[in-house]
Amino acid sequence: MSRAKLQGLGIDLPLFPTTSVGSFPKPDFLLQARADFAKKRISLGALEKAARQATEFWIRKQEELGVDVLVDGEMYRGDMVAYFAEYLSGFEEGGLVRSYGNRYYHKPIITGEVRWEEPITLEWWKYARSLTSRPVKGMLTGPYTVMDWSFIEYYPDRRSACLALAKEIRKEVEALIEEGAKIIQIDEPAASVRPEELAVAIEAMHVVTDGLPAYFITHICYGAFEDIYPDMLDLPVDNFDLEMSNSGLDMLELFKKRRFTKDLSFGVVDVHTHVLEEEPVVEQRLRQALDVVPKEAIWVDPDCGLKTRTVDEAIAKMQAVVTAAKALRAVTSDK
Ligand SMILES: [Zn+2]
Repeated sequence: MSRAKLQGLGIDLPLFPTTSVGSFPKPDFLLQARADFAKKRISLGALEKAARQATEFWIRKQEELGVDVLVDGEMYRGDMVAYFAEYLSGFEEGGLVRSYGNRYYHKPIITGEVRWEEPITLEWWKYARSLTSRPVKGMLTGPYTVMDWSFIEYYPDRRSACLALAKEIRKEVEALIEEGAKIIQIDEPAASVRPEELAVAIEAMHVVTDGLPAYFITHICYGAFEDIYPDMLDLPVDNFDLEMSNSGLDMLELFKKRRFTKDLSFGVVDVHTHVLEEEPVVEQRLRQALDVVPKEAIWVDPDCGLKTRTVDEAIAKMQAVVTAAKALRAVTSDK
């Protein structure tokens, strides 16, 4: 288990630490500011001020709710891949493509050698950290997902594009660690989509994390886990953050067959529905995590990013996460 690693990094967390997957919905004033900025009605400075206010809003909310490991909420991002493509050199903005539902994003095109020129998320992480005494996770999109969600023109194949990205994303990780980040999440939502490329995602994650002093988490969205498990456990991270709830906890059956050897951030609320699950339902889901991993290995969070929910729904879902974790702490502490 990685609790000792966290303690070695100076981070002491309660049993069943609570966190979120990273994104929160943007409050109305920020949506308005983004629309105004797009129409050139306000300056970049004014937009950034609104994003800072929204970041502070979410830091305060997470503290009020009693969340243990905070995030900046990604108030400055439009899309999780396009945002990084904008700051890394070697990319051009592509046309709009549909991602899921009715959401569209500009699929970036890799037209040159990718290069990290300057910190991308660092100032936002530092700002969030300055607002709280609780640990704040560094949040990055992983090289495999950036590659998979981009068109590749410059590199001869997907693997070489992915490894080139990994080398550059490592520089962002190093910049975060240099400023004191101890917990860093590297999202690879695409890793469950093409099982035949899992080895590439693993190779790239080694490039990003090997030898660096931080506790690493990766979030993978729901997908073909029956094809990538247990091999995915070779991803060199400490904690897998997984969407357990929207599939009726079906991954637990896989984890019962072959032992789950990492820490598990267990998604206990579905982010794709407006419906708020009842407390006993959430608690019951979390209890089932105890069937597959020791209690010391369990973290608690929503299934995925909450950015598609309303602000009130996101707060209610986070409240459900914290309530379930507290309930389980109470019943397991005397065992
Ligand atoms: Zn997800």
